[in-house]
Amino acid sequence: MKNTNPELESQAQVDTVGHFINGKIVSGSEDTQVVYNPADGSVLRVVTMGTDQTVKMAVEAAEAAFPAWREIPPGKRSRVMFRFKSLLEENSERLARIISEEHGKVLDDAMGEVQRGIENVEYACGAPELLKGQYSKNAGPAIDSWVEFQPLGVVAGITPFNFPAMVPMWMFPIALACGNTFVLKPSERDPSASIVLAELLTEAGLPQGVFNVVNGGKEAVDALLNDTRVEAISFVGSTPIAEYIYQTGTANGKRVQALGGAKNHAVVMPDANTETAVNALMGAAFGSAGERCMAISVAVAVGEDTADKLILGLKKRLGTLKVGSGCSQNVDMGPLVTREHKAKVAGYVDRGVEEGASLVVDGRDIEVEGLESGFFLGACLFDHVNSKMSIYTDEIFGPVLCVVRVKTLQDAMELIDDHEYGNGTCIFTRDGEVARYFTDHIKVGMVGVNVALPVPVASHSFGGWKRSLFGDLAAYGPDGVRFYTRRKTITQRWPSSAGDGEDIRFAFPSNN
Ligand code: NAD
Repeated sequence: MKNTNPELESQAQVDTVGHFINGKIVSGSEDTQVVYNPADGSVLRVVTMGTDQTVKMAVEAAEAAFPAWREIPPGKRSRVMFRFKSLLEENSERLARIISEEHGKVLDDAMGEVQRGIENVEYACGAPELLKGQYSKNAGPAIDSWVEFQPLGVVAGITPFNFPAMVPMWMFPIALACGNTFVLKPSERDPSASIVLAELLTEAGLPQGVFNVVNGGKEAVDALLNDTRVEAISFVGSTPIAEYIYQTGTANGKRVQALGGAKNHAVVMPDANTETAVNALMGAAFGSAGERCMAISVAVAVGEDTADKLILGLKKRLGTLKVGSGCSQNVDMGPLVTREHKAKVAGYVDRGVEEGASLVVDGRDIEVEGLESGFFLGACLFDHVNSKMSIYTDEIFGPVLCVVRVKTLQDAMELIDDHEYGNGTCIFTRDGEVARYFTDHIKVGMVGVNVALPVPVASHSFGGWKRSLFGDLAAYGPDGVRFYTRRKTITQRWPSSAGDGEDIRFAFPSNN
């Protein structure tokens, strides 16, 4: 569908990204918002901003589809997931291109995102195994007891811009495999990938209404939070919104998991191989232009000598970092997602200078030839950062790496533990005792040893500590199964025909 948005002025008409409700694209007549190509600042398309009414339609479709989907045996549901996985593999390049075009990340990175999403689909293919429950024969005399995991009903996912395919796939494959129906509200900044996912699910044989997508912003989110038919909400995004979603959703009686922001520290010990640490930090800090919730944004160097070597190594490597359009070949880092986000990140760099940190590499004036209107910010490296500075306390979510110098491992760990976020962290060392102490005591949910981005594989679960996660269960993996199911325990007695007519007993039943 073509659409003209008043913001577009002289632009020719562009396509509209609609919603996906009850098995088909719904365009609606709601307001639209522009989706930019961050590499050149042009308008790619517009996205329809769902209203209360749109959410009602989607929830209605999901509610109507639930009774039949719930009854389909897990083995058959998992066959849909197997077909979906094959279709994702066939379409991975197409998906990666769409992600790269709207988000700005480089194609290889977008392919990696799609692959990590597929791994969650593979996990969901194990639905019959994951849902088989627990059984105790002779829990008491002639009494058998079992636990089964039943679906919740209509569940919703609200997702951020930085992984437009992977984060939705942290949620819906496992939710659907468990027998729920789903309403996804993706980020309005890069909405197209989720519509492709919906179409592939339909092609894989998913009945209509089981998976729905409502595009939009706060109005759509609030409608989901207030709809009594929505049993559970999974959220991934920034901490203030995560806290709002958790508080409002739980107050409305929903089950909520809300994953928030991060400030991930990498500790570099004096015995670490500097080249290994530098190479790992380059990818972890500047990959996806730092727009990852597991990005390393603080390197904590233990000892002055370690810090000097680290700064030298990073400075040298940053000199060869290639910045350009994510869709081009041989580019290391793409643009930031929007003009506003670029201005926000650049503002933090200005503030870091004002606050007294040493800006060793300044990417603020970068220009990419032929892409002068793109939302590019070059990599920035700060030395001598301290824990009072806003570049240290706040999540910047851009290509900015802060180096903090400390004297001991203990100082490094206190720094990390005192930070409000506790998503990921890692340590570079060759000393097993140090690594073991660090992993055992650090107050962070996901920890790497010589692994800069310790994102758990699909058969584990993803979640931080402190203000990086609101709720008790993490995303995907075994926690995903628990989140999207309700435990029911059944205790059953079939007395033998000869033994019917038990005495009245007023004592509490036990095995005594
Ligand atoms: P965001 O919080 O701005 O948006 C996330 C979602 O919430 C979007 O769908 C958006 O439409 C919606 N939203 C935004 N403002 C809202 C409001 N006022 N009321 C209701 N809904 C609202 O996050 P973002 O900028 O899209 O993504 C980046 C953030 O996500 C970073 O903070 C990053 O750390 C975090 N993130 C966390 C994880 C994790 O697993 N912990 C993973 C990825 C991203």
